[in-house]
Amino acid sequence: MESVVVLYPSPGMGHLVSMVELGKLILKHHPSFSIIIFIVTPPYNTGSTAPYIARVSSSTPSITFHHLPPPPHHLSPLDSFSSPNHETLTFELLRLNNHNVHQALVSISNNSTVSALIIDFFCTSALSVANELSIPCYYFFTSGANCLACFAYLHTIHQNTSKSFKELNTHIHIPGLPPIPASDMAKPILDRTDKAYEFFLDMSFHLPKSAGIIVNTFEVLEARALKAISDGLCDPQSPTPPIFCIGPLIAADDRLGGDMPECLTWLDSQPKRSVLFLCFGSLGVFSAEQLKEIAIGLERSGQRFLWVVRSPPNEDQSKRFLAPPDPDLDLLLPDGFLDRTKDRSLVVKSWAPQVAVLNHESVGGFVTHCGWNSLLEALCAGVPMVAWPLYAEERFNRVILVEEMKLALPMEELEDGFVKASEIEKQARQLMESEEGKSIRNQIMVMKEAAEAAMSDGGSSRVALMKLVQSWN
Ligand code: UDP
Repeated sequence: MESVVVLYPSPGMGHLVSMVELGKLILKHHPSFSIIIFIVTPPYNTGSTAPYIARVSSSTPSITFHHLPPPPHHLSPLDSFSSPNHETLTFELLRLNNHNVHQALVSISNNSTVSALIIDFFCTSALSVANELSIPCYYFFTSGANCLACFAYLHTIHQNTSKSFKELNTHIHIPGLPPIPASDMAKPILDRTDKAYEFFLDMSFHLPKSAGIIVNTFEVLEARALKAISDGLCDPQSPTPPIFCIGPLIAADDRLGGDMPECLTWLDSQPKRSVLFLCFGSLGVFSAEQLKEIAIGLERSGQRFLWVVRSPPNEDQSKRFLAPPDPDLDLLLPDGFLDRTKDRSLVVKSWAPQVAVLNHESVGGFVTHCGWNSLLEALCAGVPMVAWPLYAEERFNRVILVEEMKLALPMEELEDGFVKASEIEKQARQLMESEEGKSIRNQIMVMKEAAEAAMSDGGSSRVALMKLVQSWN
């Protein structure tokens, strides 16, 4: 019978893209397996995932997307949803999908052997389905090993304090990591009375119950955290499951032939390594006031820049999970800004082909929201960063990027989260012109080469993939 590996990503763009790349990687090196990817279509904005799935379906027909039916409407909590965190909704939606996952796995098992179910951490509830059907279940951790160490250690921290991270004015000491300011812990776990915290805590307990954890990283990048995890320091109460660092897996530059996006043509006309690229993940948005401040900072910095601008968040709470419309740049940016900077800048509405942009030789720096995929994409392209976190675990990633990896300069915000034009101007110049910027560029080139070595024949990530696949036979 045919051997199938089923991948079960959570719906967000950053989670889907790396899971798809995992599927492609398995197929490339072990083509005897078939790959099926479960797709959940949520009732909220996931950041351009539909066109992405359509592109992958046509470019990689050997991957099958299996669209799960929506959970019964009366179970959908969207309208009455109270948690401020998007993540709660994702966990909840995926929990409600267990029945669909069960049905789909049973139906696939009728004609094939399901060798493994690989789940995103948001899909923790599916572990019980896999157990019931005696299918080995692996996590695919779409953030880094430092973050994995943090989540693995969460239930130990939980037992040792009764306070929420947001109330702790101190540093959190996690084995293998630099001290993390409590306020920089992942946003959805800052408040322990929030439902999102409960879900993450539950995930923390379940990690060791899986058959293994696949991490989108490579050993050299996160050696210290990985050692702490495999030495059992991050979860002293449970045996550590096998850890497979198979990355970095990044989105392919899969622009369809023919149409060349305007921003790439524009980059062609710019000097080598001269352009600062600003892009904030699939969901990052700023207030109108912050957008104006960014514009002022960029203009004053004198740097060339390519900036992806989105409309500010919708004030209407019932629409907060929906995709924003394209921005009206004349309304949002300062008077005359586009005209004054037109010789050295381009502003793109809502979305840019990030991997292609980062790999363009005219790009010399990247202001990023610190999503793990963005960070790996910059690393693989050898582009140094300024870390400006917005949501999820990005403040945590900033600490790791700046203090541990030395691959980025920190964008410092005021207490209310606002970043002043003077700070933006300063960091833009530092990254593009200063000795510090140069040393970050050097360090990123070291890691770029280490990443290439890890992914080449005999490299650590290739060996880890082989071990993973062997565990299915
Ligand atoms: N992305 C893109 N263009 C954009 C914004 C995002 O291609 O304008 C891609 C980016 O290259 C990355 C993904 O969307 O692959 C975002 O993933 P990440 O983990 O960085 O952030 P998330 O969106 O999950 O917060």
